[in-house]
Amino acid sequence: MKRFQDKLSQLKEAGLHRRLRTMSSASAPRVQVDGRWLVMCAANNYLGLVDDERVRAAAVDAIVRYGTGSSGSRLITGTTDLHVRLEAAIAAFKQTEAALVFNNGYMANMAALSSLVGTGDVIFSDELNHASIIDGCRQSKASVVVYRHNDMNDLRRKLEDTPASGQRLIVTDGVFSMDGDLANLPAIVDVADTYEAWVMVDDAHATGVFGQHGGGTADYYGIQAERIAIQVGTLSKAIGSEGGFIAGSRVLIDYLVNCARPFVFSTALSPPVLAAAMRAIEIIQTEGARRDHLHALTKRLRRGLLDAGFEVLPGTAPIIPIILGDPLHTLEFSRRLEENGVFATAIRPPTVPPGTSRIRFTLMATHTDDDIEHIIQACIAAGRGLGVIS
Ligand code: PMP
Repeated sequence: MKRFQDKLSQLKEAGLHRRLRTMSSASAPRVQVDGRWLVMCAANNYLGLVDDERVRAAAVDAIVRYGTGSSGSRLITGTTDLHVRLEAAIAAFKQTEAALVFNNGYMANMAALSSLVGTGDVIFSDELNHASIIDGCRQSKASVVVYRHNDMNDLRRKLEDTPASGQRLIVTDGVFSMDGDLANLPAIVDVADTYEAWVMVDDAHATGVFGQHGGGTADYYGIQAERIAIQVGTLSKAIGSEGGFIAGSRVLIDYLVNCARPFVFSTALSPPVLAAAMRAIEIIQTEGARRDHLHALTKRLRRGLLDAGFEVLPGTAPIIPIILGDPLHTLEFSRRLEENGVFATAIRPPTVPPGTSRIRFTLMATHTDDDIEHIIQACIAAGRGLGVIS
């Protein structure tokens, strides 16, 4: 155990040690953390659907009818009519021919990258893509070329300079999870056309949040779904449940059913999470006001933090990072926020590059204007106390 102890001590000294925090209530605007009630601004419950009465009721009904677990992998006994109906709902939502659910978004990315491309193929991956895309690239037998964040010239240059005997695949987050900016998807699909590359978008943070009907980045930019070969998403953020999915053509989905190991060799998702996701997707498509309110709150928080003098990364997503740089400093900032009743986590390497440690606020449609004011005032108090702002 000594080697582990030594590593943990090193992490502590560098301000990079992590500890688990215990939530004893739903992931709502007010949450009980380690026994204290705080304003939650670190959750991915963007539309506040995790504790929506209708979503809860759908989950409870599913337990009553189907029980708590699926008891088998999808290809053996684990496929229920709930899986089939949810997959049809996701396909309609994403405007694709078909969709397939996975146990989480992480596994969906691993499945796509390890089974859809391989030897002779080349993956072009944005440098700020999520860890599950990076791990999927590592798992894949394709070669991997990393391009500078959202830099279309660099992407073009790398496509030009990299010969591929097989298929090329450009993969990007739709909304970048730690920075909160959007991928330049219109340019990416154009570049992909030129080089006959496939496009894969991980819309974990955009689904439900962007687009007229909440369909994500393609919906937001008005890009036809057929131009994106592989649309990945999670059911665990705006959709308020658990699980991941891939949406695309019928052939792609049939191929994944047969060849994606994370799909084939794991027990199917349980009935309550499927029913909750299905109900949430209906709400997302019909209640645009939730999205509008979320975006209005986001603008207000961004403005307030900028006016107070913080370095806020530009973007339009309800992910609002303020850059503090040093990990120990960032930890202290988050501790002071907590003293002032605000729960926002310190994001540090290796999640973000060294020197860019940050407090990352995420909002939900169920926050109020008063919550935003509370967050801003807590930041001003912490920022002044630590000399981050004057
Ligand atoms: N992609 C992105 C961009 C994410 O932020 C996350 C979750 N943090 C995932 C994929 C993984 O999704 P899940 O939590 O459902 O495994």
